[in-house]
Amino acid sequence: MLVNSPALADFGTIEGLSATWRKRSHGRLSYTVTCCDPRVLPDQFLGGFGMKVSEVRNAGGRASEALRSLICVDHVLGVGAVIVIHHTDCGLTHLRNDFLHSSLTQKAPDNAAEIAKMDFLEILDLKASVIEDMKILKDSPYLRKDLKVYGYVYDIKTGKLQDVQE
Ligand SMILES: [Zn+2]
Repeated sequence: MLVNSPALADFGTIEGLSATWRKRSHGRLSYTVTCCDPRVLPDQFLGGFGMKVSEVRNAGGRASEALRSLICVDHVLGVGAVIVIHHTDCGLTHLRNDFLHSSLTQKAPDNAAEIAKMDFLEILDLKASVIEDMKILKDSPYLRKDLKVYGYVYDIKTGKLQDVQE
């Protein structure tokens, strides 16, 4: 597959880019799946491990929504590990599906049936949501079986990461 982007031209092909990137990251190309909350800065707290980390962000840092991106990236560049990070005081620990269903139905009453089926992936328990998302990634038939998946809860107040084990 040829690369059309001028920025990637030096690598020649997607395979070439992938091989170069893997070599540069010493096989440790990792992705965090984390919340789009600007208080969560994975570079700051993972940089100390010497890891090259990129990010897939969405509201809550939910794996089911990140899966499409991870599948694409894995096919192009390869993913060595995924680190799921949810955080304290997350908007999704405050928002409830019922509230959003009601609010959206007021805005778009003609879409009530569709809205009732929407799941906004509310978070009732931070550790449980990290475990649920680690399982989604580990069990996905579209990602490699040997994919390493780690999970943490990031405490906004203390800046500490709490390891979450399944
Ligand atoms: Zn959040």
